[in-house]
Amino acid sequence: MDKRTTHFGFQDVPVEEKAGRVADVFHSVAKRYDVMNDLMSFGVHRLWKRITLERSGVRKGNAVLDIAGGTGDLTRQFAKRVGPTGRVVLADINASMLNVGRDKLIDAGVGHEVEYVQANAEELPFDDNTFDCITIAFGLRNVTDKDKALRSMARVLKPGGRLLVLEFSKPTNALFEKVYDQYSFHVLPRVGQLVANDADSYRYLAESIRMHPDQATLKAMMEDAGLERVEYTNMTGGVVALHRGIKL
Ligand code: SAM
Repeated sequence: MDKRTTHFGFQDVPVEEKAGRVADVFHSVAKRYDVMNDLMSFGVHRLWKRITLERSGVRKGNAVLDIAGGTGDLTRQFAKRVGPTGRVVLADINASMLNVGRDKLIDAGVGHEVEYVQANAEELPFDDNTFDCITIAFGLRNVTDKDKALRSMARVLKPGGRLLVLEFSKPTNALFEKVYDQYSFHVLPRVGQLVANDADSYRYLAESIRMHPDQATLKAMMEDAGLERVEYTNMTGGVVALHRGIKL
């Protein structure tokens, strides 16, 4: 691959174009994002997020950043956990996703306790050593320079702070992977077309999942970014993995 290009799904695109293309996808899906998540994962994304929340160790008074937080599923639970002495920031590069998220959190009764920041994970606009916990759920896959984003997250974590990366990964069983491929490449774009009138965004979803680093590669990337004691847990046969690292 040419040095100045990167992946956008299965396409090679100039590095400076990727963020704009990803932005188009999420502007397009923002309003239907939550309903599509439930449909595509048969509701299982809720379980993946619940496990992430449990593994986060977030408690009263903590400062938490949910980057690429989109419509705020994790943020909502963090806001309840940290209480009035804590701080929760919902950050996302995309204004449409942040707007849907803010409306949803206000409806859930926690919206006013949350800070909303439009930011790129690669260049987080926070001081060093700010957060006890950072989560990035189904977001890293979309970031152009993942190593830079991981370094940026490590920088703004406090010593002892945790980074949790919840992301699609590589199924551990070859037969199951074949079935999953059929589902991803043939069923998902059709559901996207029917429900959100947008097959392309859901084709990108399937392709971007395949291009994302597998479990061991992402673990090594987190270690290179300065995180320690990095470990991962496969969920749903490796369809999704939760990586967790600590800044010491
Ligand atoms: N975390 C939410 C969840 O789990 O439901 C939303 C995940 S959604 C699939 C991916 C999000 O990543 C989108 O809201 C998108 O705007 C955001 N995103 C993509 N690139 C980003 C970047 N470079 N920095 C911050 N957010 C980004």
